[in-house]
Amino acid sequence: MSLSTSGTLRRFFRRAARSFSPRALILLYHRIALSSPDPQLLCVTPAHFGEHLEALRKYGNPIALRSLLPALQNRQLARRAIVVTFDDGYADNLHHAKPLLERYDVPATVFVTSGYVGSEKEFWYDDLERLLLQPGILPETLQLNLNGSLHQWQLNGAVHYDKDSYCSYAGWNISRQDNPTPRHELYRSLFQTLLPLPDKQRRNLVDDLLIAAGMETSGRPTYRVFSPGEMIKLTDGALVEVGAHTVSHTILSTLSTAEQAEEISQSKARLEEILGHRVTSFAYPHGGRSHYTDETVAAVRQAGFDCACAAFPGIVRRATTERWQLPRFLVRDWDGQEFARRLSQWFRS
Ligand SMILES: [Zn+2]
Repeated sequence: MSLSTSGTLRRFFRRAARSFSPRALILLYHRIALSSPDPQLLCVTPAHFGEHLEALRKYGNPIALRSLLPALQNRQLARRAIVVTFDDGYADNLHHAKPLLERYDVPATVFVTSGYVGSEKEFWYDDLERLLLQPGILPETLQLNLNGSLHQWQLNGAVHYDKDSYCSYAGWNISRQDNPTPRHELYRSLFQTLLPLPDKQRRNLVDDLLIAAGMETSGRPTYRVFSPGEMIKLTDGALVEVGAHTVSHTILSTLSTAEQAEEISQSKARLEEILGHRVTSFAYPHGGRSHYTDETVAAVRQAGFDCACAAFPGIVRRATTERWQLPRFLVRDWDGQEFARRLSQWFRS
């Protein structure tokens, strides 16, 4: 046998072994809603979500997160197994997602930020969108006192933001390079300034901005997290389960070990208190590799969870994947055809 033939055979067997080894993928959604603009690309429309579920049933085998690891361990994983998850706990997960999950009989896990349950507050990044990217009038200057130093932003001709501008830029999002108006530039700048801060400080700063602009600090009803009753309703029927996602959605790697442990264990305790049963899974806020540390993983294990989800892409395989950092593929507002194309691409990866 020539060297090149043996190389080809090796590649063939490696590919074959890969295609026969158990593998699953976990999808990450946030909101099922029609919201515009959507600068963080968090929304999938109910129509598109229905198309996604149809594609999941046609091309995959949807399973619950709690069944994934036992199925992998017992080598009983269905081919093309797919787990659906949602992060944050937006109430639209009950009102828009659950009826569709039931229609297609697709199980899901919703990771809930416990400190927002029953609160009228929006997440701070949604407040920034409400402040800057909705039509209205803002002061000439917005300022923040950040740890003793004053940051000022001039609106430079974008004090008035009319309906036409709002409609023209409704498709803008933070992943784009351009800032079509000073308001978009300010949104980006404030987002980056506030992202690494502890939630309490960030909350106060965003409230100051809203008050300076003459806006309510309580949020829009369509942007809120579940009430306790809604969370219980979500889990009725056992198709949807709740996982924990910290108390305040602060980036865990910015906190001390003790503060991380508190965020993790208190979110679990609060959700269990409401639901009356054990919460077994956790998802790291933001979920990139820089957003948590080895200490975070240890705290999650210590708190008594069975598994934890990250937010970097990857296939779940028996040998290569850790149950404490399960990879997930972020899903965007694609139509069913594009979603099916992505699924097949992800399974080949
Ligand atoms: Zn989150």
